[in-house]
Amino acid sequence: MTREISVRNPRTGEDDYRIQVADAAELAGVCDRLRQNQRAWSEAGSEHRCRVLKAWSDALIGRGDVAAALAVDTGRHLIAAVEVQALGGIVERWCRAAPDLLDVSGEWASATPGVVLRDQLVPYELVGVISPWNFPLLLSMLDAVPALVAGCSVVVKPSEVTPRFIEPLTASLDDYPELAGVLSVVAGDGATGAALIENVDAMAFTGSVATGRLVAESCARRFIPVFLELGGKDPAVVLPSANPVQAAKTVLRASVQATGQACQSLERVYVHESGFDAFVKALVEMAESVELNYPDIRKGQIGPLIFDKQSEIISAHLDDARLKGATIHCGGIIETHGGGKWIRPTVLTGVDHSMRVMREETFGPVMPVMAYRDLDEAIALANDTEFGLSAAVIGPDIDQAEYVARRINAGAVGINDGAMTVDVQDAPHDSFGFSGMGVSRMGNSGLMRYMRRKSIMIRHTQAKGVESLEESLLG
Ligand code: NAD
Repeated sequence: MTREISVRNPRTGEDDYRIQVADAAELAGVCDRLRQNQRAWSEAGSEHRCRVLKAWSDALIGRGDVAAALAVDTGRHLIAAVEVQALGGIVERWCRAAPDLLDVSGEWASATPGVVLRDQLVPYELVGVISPWNFPLLLSMLDAVPALVAGCSVVVKPSEVTPRFIEPLTASLDDYPELAGVLSVVAGDGATGAALIENVDAMAFTGSVATGRLVAESCARRFIPVFLELGGKDPAVVLPSANPVQAAKTVLRASVQATGQACQSLERVYVHESGFDAFVKALVEMAESVELNYPDIRKGQIGPLIFDKQSEIISAHLDDARLKGATIHCGGIIETHGGGKWIRPTVLTGVDHSMRVMREETFGPVMPVMAYRDLDEAIALANDTEFGLSAAVIGPDIDQAEYVARRINAGAVGINDGAMTVDVQDAPHDSFGFSGMGVSRMGNSGLMRYMRRKSIMIRHTQAKGVESLEESLLG
């Protein structure tokens, strides 16, 4: 039976949209239909698949309705437009890489005498993609597009917090029936996501650690591969030689971008004691000049908090820090404007690792800054976490920065920039700790992980007979 869920508008705080949630039987029906079309899609070849994907993505980018729906889903204008534009880049990148990556023609001699080997890449029939609310389209397509290029069928289940873009996205497939036959975007909540796992052959999940654990357990029961892209608590280490103003500028952008609602946001800052005061002064000054996208969605740099409950988490982290002696220099208050919830860039000092703001994912524009005495201490503080998504090291001495970067337990460490994994898509990197599991989404493996490698083993000599099984032959 179909359920309905009402959806809150992040700028007004009102429930002004509803989604129909498919039940398990309907979902299974969708999955069956996609499976039936997968073989033809796969056999059509990657050149053909890319032609279809490019035509569709160009058309989608040309229509304004997906960006408009995303703007309501997330309460932000510019990033909604960027998410739509990014689809073109994702399709372009994988279609450029596919001919080389998917070419496994040719054969080679095995080390076993008389045997020649050929390779086959076998796409998973049906890939499930479950995505979060912070970049609803981007984080759906980042995994769906390479799976489609690989020749899989794909079901995407976006977050129930931001589902408005599903309608226009699905409408955009009307003119591309072949693609509509292998790609479905279904509205639903956690129960829908859990049901989806029961129907697919591989799972790409982006979301929280808590849900990631449930997803991994379900996939383990079914013996299907799972790729988990989870939360982070990314540290920035500002080296003694760093220019404090330049460093503050970099940290601020990488912390408050998307209102800090990004997995790769810088959420902890360690500054050498020699430059600490100058850094904090510059950071606070710059943070105070950042403006809300309110009332004009097209102005300012900080959007509303998309998910209502996130404001409670941010408040709890700040209350805990205050109670334990931290000083809040700017921001620090959840503001209500027009019914939406907002928080300005927030700088804290007097923090330590007993505080939630230094240990748990805050997912807001919150920058706790702590002084360190030497590099060993900075590295130990950066590594005192259960996460290991990414990190930043800032300073002009690249050798020293790389010394620190190599010792930080995270899958990607940027030098002289923060949140670099947003722009750099071709560097393969794993997630350390609780930040994820499975083969890297970035780099070539982002495509190859949707295929199984099969070996065709050809014997050109007479195969051994039963006489080879005689024990006496073993000496
Ligand atoms: P979430 O875990 O609450 O939800 C993510 C998705 O999982 C949603 O679509 C939800 O409906 C679905 N879901 C919920 N319960 C489920 C279940 N039992 N089985 C299957 N699916 C289920 O996460 P969120 O709050 O939407 O997103 C924020 C989190 O995502 C943050 O922790 C953030 O760091 C993380 N994130 C990670 C990356 C990355 O690339 N590592 C990128 C963006 C966001």
